[in-house]
Amino acid sequence: MELEQAREVLQNARRLAILTGAGISAESGIATFREAQTGLWARYKPEDLATPAAYQRDPLLVWQWYAERYQMVQKAQPNSAHLALVELERRQLSAGGSFVLVTQNVDGLHSRAGSGQHGGQYIELHGNLSTGRDEITGAIENLPPTDKIGQNLPPHSTAGNRLRPNVVWFGEQLSGAALTKAREAFVWADLALVIGTSGLVYPAAGLASQTLQNGNYLIEINPQETELSERVSLSLRQTASAGLAMLLG
Ligand code: NAD
Repeated sequence: MELEQAREVLQNARRLAILTGAGISAESGIATFREAQTGLWARYKPEDLATPAAYQRDPLLVWQWYAERYQMVQKAQPNSAHLALVELERRQLSAGGSFVLVTQNVDGLHSRAGSGQHGGQYIELHGNLSTGRDEITGAIENLPPTDKIGQNLPPHSTAGNRLRPNVVWFGEQLSGAALTKAREAFVWADLALVIGTSGLVYPAAGLASQTLQNGNYLIEINPQETELSERVSLSLRQTASAGLAMLLG
């Protein structure tokens, strides 16, 4: 499919599903998982910090790492790709269509940009670095402000229980409810966009295949070729912001 047709398909889509990954936040300066392993943290592998076993062994160490990542994402700002998806949600809903944005990112930048505020659905499959989860009740709460988080680690919930980072660790299951909603969106979508993800992380990566299996359109935006590139209707080898600007016009 050519760009002109892609723009038309986007304009006429009734049900739109979008999957984003780390690449959409690259232009906001958010380091990838591997890039975050610098300085004091260089001697740890992410697998030594982002697992239930690591947390059980040394909750303070794990929280120190997450507190730094929380401070880093709060300093970053949503970029024009995050904002373009908010505009797309607004357009889609005001035209009577549906819009579901699913992200693998834990930086919360979509939500800070305004995603989910125009009547669309916004699903954070892997959690959010700016919140914690009560280890006893499961309640999700905002973390203390960035300038206070370091003073009293690990943080506690309003009920007085320890909070754990509200992210999905290696070896943990994604939330069943979130995954079901995401799958439905990609099964029913007449157009799906996949932006800034290598397509390697399952089961999220399988979402795009659902749309293709049903004979519907799939557009990828990624400066690099990915596992999906050969199968998509159109692959825009662009950054997220440039690719979305081309599609939205
Ligand atoms: P990934 O690191 O596997 O892939 C990132 C993709 O983004 C690559 O294909 C790359 O070519 C592409 N990319 C790079 N710059 C881009 C740009 N400017 N515009 C568009 N695309 C660009 O990331 P993933 O597929 O999201 O999977 C990694 C896992 O790590 C995810 O599960 C995610 O939860 C986690 N993670 C999250 C963040 C975040 O919250 N920002 C950051 C790093 C990792």
